[in-house]
Amino acid sequence: MPRPERSFRVTAVVLRHADWGEADRLLTLFTREMGKLRAVAKGVRKVRSRKAGHLEPFTHVRLQLAKGRDLPIVTQAETVDAYLPLRDDLIKTGYAAYAAELLDRFTYEEEIESSIPFRLLVETLGRISQESDAWLAARYYEMRLLDYLGFRPQLFRCANCEAAIEPVDQYFSPLAGGVICPKCGAGLPGLWTISMDELKYLRHFQRSSYAEASRAHPSAEVKKKVETLMQAFFTYLLERELNTPGFLKRIRNSNEN
Ligand SMILES: [Zn+2]
Repeated sequence: MPRPERSFRVTAVVLRHADWGEADRLLTLFTREMGKLRAVAKGVRKVRSRKAGHLEPFTHVRLQLAKGRDLPIVTQAETVDAYLPLRDDLIKTGYAAYAAELLDRFTYEEEIESSIPFRLLVETLGRISQESDAWLAARYYEMRLLDYLGFRPQLFRCANCEAAIEPVDQYFSPLAGGVICPKCGAGLPGLWTISMDELKYLRHFQRSSYAEASRAHPSAEVKKKVETLMQAFFTYLLERELNTPGFLKRIRNSNEN
C-alpha cells in the first residue's frame, strides 16, 4: 500500500488566528491551491519562536504543512509579503481585516483550487498597504468578489422587466441582485434607492480595470452612498445565502463560466 502524501506546500494569506492549547495557534488560511484551510502552528506563542512573525494575520506566506491526525501542522513558514505599512496604520489594518473577513465568511473548507480569489486578495492587500487612500481598493475588491461569488449585480437593465435603464434615479433590489426601474419599483417592498450618479459610478467600477477605476473622482456624497449600498448588499447576501447548498452551487457554476 502506498503511503498517503504526508507533507504538502501551499501559498496562503493568514485570514485570522486564535490561541490553541498552551502555546499553539489555530490559523485560518486562504490558500491558492486549496481555498480556505485551517492549520495549527505549534509553539508560536513562545517568545523565541522563529515561525511566529510569518503567521500574523494578513501576511502572504509560503508554508510547508504536515498532515496531522486532525488538522495539518505548519512545519515551515516563509514570508512572501508582510505588507508592513498595514501594521502601523489602524485604518489600513481595518480595511485589510474587512477584506479577509469577507472572503472568510463567503468560503468553506472544501479543498478547491482558488487562484482567482487568492490573487484578488493578495492584490487588494498590496493596494491597501501601498496606497494613501484604501477606499478605492476596498470597493474594487467588493465588486470583483461579487463577480467571483456569482452575484455580479445587474446594473444596465432592470432586474425585473429587462428594460434598459434610463438616466434617472432608480431602485436597487438586493433580492433581484440589481437595479429596478422606477416603473417596476413603484410600491415594491425591500428596495433601496440609488441615484443616477451612484449607479454610473458602480457601472464604471464593474467594467473597469483597477487603473481605470482609480481615474474616476466621485463626490464624497457618492462615495459614502456607494459604500453603504455595497456593504448592505454583502450583509444581505450573507444572511440569505450562507450555509445553503444553492449558494455553493452558484459559486461553482460561476467559476466554470
Ligand atoms: Zn423594470
